[in-house]
Amino acid sequence: MKKNIIINKNNFFIFSLFECGCFSMATITTTIIIIICLLPATQAKYMFYNTTMAIDPHKINVHLVPHSHDDVGWLKTIDQYYAGANNSIRGACVQNVLDSVISALLDDPNRRFIYVEMAFFQRWWRQQSDTLKAEVRDLVNSGRLEFINGGMCMHDEATPHYIDMIDQTTLGHRFIKHEFNQKPRVGWQIDPFGHSAVQAYLLGAELGFDSLFFARIDYQDRAKRKTDKSLEVVWQGSQSLGSSSQIFTGIFPVHYSPPDGFTFEVNDVSAPIQDDLTLFDYNVKERVDDFVIAALAQANVTRTNHIMWTMGEDFRYQYALSWFRQMDKFIHYVNMDGRVNALYSTPSIYTEAKHTANEKWPLKTGDFFPYADRENAYWTGYFTSRPALKGYVRMMSGYLLAARQLEFFKGRSNLGPNTDALADALAIAQHHDAITGTEREHVAADYAMRLSIGYTEAEKVVAASLAFLAESKLSTRHNNPVTKFEQCPLLNISYCPPTEANLLNGKSLVVVAYNPIGWKRVEIIRIPVSSQGLIVQDSDGREIESQLIPISSASLSTRNYHLKGNLGGSATDSDKYWLAFSASVPPLGFSTYIVSSSRKTGSRSVISKWSLSERDSNNTIEVGQGNLKLLYTADEGKLTSYINSRNQVTAFAGQSYGYYSGYNGTDRVNQASGAYIFRPNGTFPVKSDSQVPLTVVRGPLLDEIHQQLSSWLHQVTRVYKEKEHAEVEFTIGPIPVDDGVGKEVIARIATSLRSNRTFYTDSNGRDFIKRVRDYRSDWDLQVHQPIAGNYYPINLGIYLEDEDIELSVLVDRAVGATSLVDGQIEVMLHRRLLNDDARGVGEALNEEVCVHNTCKGLMIQGKFYLRIDPRGEGAKWRRAFGQEIYSPLLLAFAEQDGNNWMGTHVAAFSAIDPAYSLPENIAIITLQELENGKVLLRLAHLYETGEDRDYSVMEKVELKKLFPGKKISKVTEMNLSANQERSEMEKKRLEWRVEGASEERRGLRGGAFDPTRLEVELAPSEIRTFEVEFDYIRMFGS
Ligand SMILES: [Zn+2]
Repeated sequence: MKKNIIINKNNFFIFSLFECGCFSMATITTTIIIIICLLPATQAKYMFYNTTMAIDPHKINVHLVPHSHDDVGWLKTIDQYYAGANNSIRGACVQNVLDSVISALLDDPNRRFIYVEMAFFQRWWRQQSDTLKAEVRDLVNSGRLEFINGGMCMHDEATPHYIDMIDQTTLGHRFIKHEFNQKPRVGWQIDPFGHSAVQAYLLGAELGFDSLFFARIDYQDRAKRKTDKSLEVVWQGSQSLGSSSQIFTGIFPVHYSPPDGFTFEVNDVSAPIQDDLTLFDYNVKERVDDFVIAALAQANVTRTNHIMWTMGEDFRYQYALSWFRQMDKFIHYVNMDGRVNALYSTPSIYTEAKHTANEKWPLKTGDFFPYADRENAYWTGYFTSRPALKGYVRMMSGYLLAARQLEFFKGRSNLGPNTDALADALAIAQHHDAITGTEREHVAADYAMRLSIGYTEAEKVVAASLAFLAESKLSTRHNNPVTKFEQCPLLNISYCPPTEANLLNGKSLVVVAYNPIGWKRVEIIRIPVSSQGLIVQDSDGREIESQLIPISSASLSTRNYHLKGNLGGSATDSDKYWLAFSASVPPLGFSTYIVSSSRKTGSRSVISKWSLSERDSNNTIEVGQGNLKLLYTADEGKLTSYINSRNQVTAFAGQSYGYYSGYNGTDRVNQASGAYIFRPNGTFPVKSDSQVPLTVVRGPLLDEIHQQLSSWLHQVTRVYKEKEHAEVEFTIGPIPVDDGVGKEVIARIATSLRSNRTFYTDSNGRDFIKRVRDYRSDWDLQVHQPIAGNYYPINLGIYLEDEDIELSVLVDRAVGATSLVDGQIEVMLHRRLLNDDARGVGEALNEEVCVHNTCKGLMIQGKFYLRIDPRGEGAKWRRAFGQEIYSPLLLAFAEQDGNNWMGTHVAAFSAIDPAYSLPENIAIITLQELENGKVLLRLAHLYETGEDRDYSVMEKVELKKLFPGKKISKVTEMNLSANQERSEMEKKRLEWRVEGASEERRGLRGGAFDPTRLEVELAPSEIRTFEVEFDYIRMFGS
């Protein structure tokens, strides 16, 4: 299109007048006269715009970065956004974006575009012809279309677990590698609502990114950074890894849209450049002036002579030429004007330019939470919004990790069933309007449905693999196992048909417990059963201790209500008890237990004693059969003390629930509490409707305290004989809103710790970051919201300490948490709100469950865990048990006819050398057979430097012992997303200079991988990724 160039000489003459850069009234008048004089001779002709890219070292360079921010679901589902369906909600069609951008890029070799969300790009790519695919490959290879960020979605940074962030990025990066042989160099987290330390070092530097860009930081922080010219920094997210894992980070001065007046979607109101002299409203000079003024304003708050303009917005470029036409003209006329230099660019080109400037940059440590966009608008509500979806995502995340291991043990089938659909659904669910809970209700349902579909397929993989492994003794049917293992995803509501079946006529229940963790664990399994008189035998046929706990009527009614909703019809009341027994499971392996009716008396499961108000002489109720005891007041049923007889920790400990009433937004500042924003309007205790005594359940393995705290809040506290933490299972909802007030429910744990305003919260389940109440390390905080402004996201937990002891609370999903009073921890568990908080979702966060056309507020069930340790000893529990919360034992059930299971099946299995176990500071966070038959292995050191005196040490993992009986032929160390070799990534890494740093803190790293000894060394906080190749892939029983 640009081959035959005809330059309109007349126009050229006029523009050369502009080039002088001085526009006195006289000149302008002269110009107008000249234009008028020339008009009769002027013909509108084809215009050539010179948009050749060139950086001018002597001018301010305005890098125009064309982009479209395409949410992988928000107001519409991902597929509705892709196809342009449901446009009455929002006119958005990503297919149009990609079609028209590609066409505009093919039209002109100077134009550039970046694309970010691979979930959308994949949908588009598979529909294209081979011819177009070849053209797109050319665009990518020449850098005109650049993939940045490159995960399936732009994940949130507060609520996802780091393993999910790695997985979703890996999926996208490997797709880009496979189709284009490209490796993204830039992090582009422009929209997430605050930014995490894990994002900076793990999902940044460890991927091989040279830079990270985003828009949303606290308004007070931004104001200071603009003054200090510190919007661009070098960010060291990991204290342990220091400068070895740092990243250049750019924060946009306003938002991720262009400066005001430079948006050019078809219906946008910015004035286009009108440069056709034969038409009215010719405005080249005005528009060039506007451009220069906006550029100088930004240059004023930016170091070096390079500034970036993010030329795009949400779902823009549906008609890409509308943008490119204007940018062509701006680049042409602005460069003729000459005051600043404009160019088509990408964040990679911009980063290169910043690096070449050889400037020193301010150092940033910690993170960018919480985020407020103005005084009373703290985006800390979404840390908890949609707790059921957050819980489901976490449950599926742990399940995927285990299912991938089992898939590898049997051998992956590319044709399916496999774990790909679950991985894909989980990837999309990490989007910053998915797991965050800030999407519309129908979109949340779409994410959950995708997870459910993925789970159903992965469940088949797990069942087949367990059958394969269990039958590997039987060479005749080894390749076609017949055992049908069932699993129970609704165990949380005590629904599990195989365990509830009557064990009569010699039938018994086989329970296989699989442990995805690299060390042996012993824990209590609970399954619902319908009869008494059961015995449990272990893999060796020995009868083991078991306990029957009557299922409370509160649990039964919850179960029946949700079964109606989930399965339709009415549920039976067949299960009467929880059967609890202790399972001991080897690393990366399983143990088998047989549950059967007892024919003899005397040796059968103990039925727990229930009591309402037993008390000792101090009017106290004491529970706990082992080291840990909890004391309650007999009259009020209040927790008062936590006593560990092993380590002599005795602490006052209270526990209660309360709620904040959500602001309805009718006040002066017009800000409601909603899906994103937490704006409390008063705090209230949850009071029981009547005095309900606590119920105590005692038995040989565990004690339980049942408390109905109000008609909508029920709690069971468990103390296991062999454990030193308390487990609190809460059932909350429907939160009553018939008073017209939305409510945000919190649990509070109070102790007398002198925690001195300080507490620690995790970053995406990994690093613990120090928080100080009403304080920010980067600026002098003005406190307007003393509650909401002190909330932080947690995925693993929160803890406090004083000179003597530390109090830790761990959680089973992402929630918001804080410490508003010394010694206290507060965790927000559920939210139901009646107003929209005006950040775009346009719906109140009022989740309901409908059964037979009757809708009630959402009820959620979850757990948190608390423990008090002598100071310096809490990390061991937080890290090891935290890993066990993430990776629960995977239970599968089969029916045994007769009594020969143990004789005909493998009853105990471990994938690793029987004499080996991973050290308790190392986790296998990925063990996955890839499509090409290679195996992806990720090992994570769970501790930070200095976190624990025993475990914060360099550790070794022996791969030979992880894969016994297999011949490892090649091991290649990769970057975190496994799209390039680690050494290749390190070679390309840009070095950045930090302002005022006297000496560099490089952080400790494990040594190079030793290919002869096959040993991996991991320093604290390190995650190392390997592609492992074997001489043969089938491993067990072959
Ligand atoms: Zn977004």
